[in-house]
Amino acid sequence: TVGCVALDINGHCAAATSTGGLVNKMVGRIGDSPLIGAGTYANEFCAVSATGKGEEIIRNLCTKEVATLMEYKYLTLKEAVDTVIWKKLGEGNGGLIAVSRNGEIAMSFNTLGMYRASASEAGHREIGIWQDECFDDG
Ligand code: ASP
Repeated sequence: TVGCVALDINGHCAAATSTGGLVNKMVGRIGDSPLIGAGTYANEFCAVSATGKGEEIIRNLCTKEVATLMEYKYLTLKEAVDTVIWKKLGEGNGGLIAVSRNGEIAMSFNTLGMYRASASEAGHREIGIWQDECFDDG
């Protein structure tokens, strides 16, 4: 899966997710990536893209849940993403990348690893690409 989240200078959030699906998937399977609220979601609070076991991501409406936790529980983006990753999505099932309308970035996963990168100010000031082991800092 390749996911992207973005925030423009007017505070608009956008998300996009593309995938080839899981290895050995059933013919006709529709994963989480094209389902708004499951693998991909953006609203006035944040933009979120998911990777991992699609069935679990769909069951938990993972990307929409992040936005809901921000809107109704007043969680920060990082708190909302970590809540979904560590309390809702089962262990080893996936990861999320997200950006909030304030420019906060969160990229958490409970799998062994997840390649991820971030850039701010159109990539001029800060860019990083990571692939490390998962840890629970919450
Ligand atoms: N989430 C994708 C799916 O279940 C797979 C992936 O993230 O690699 O179709």
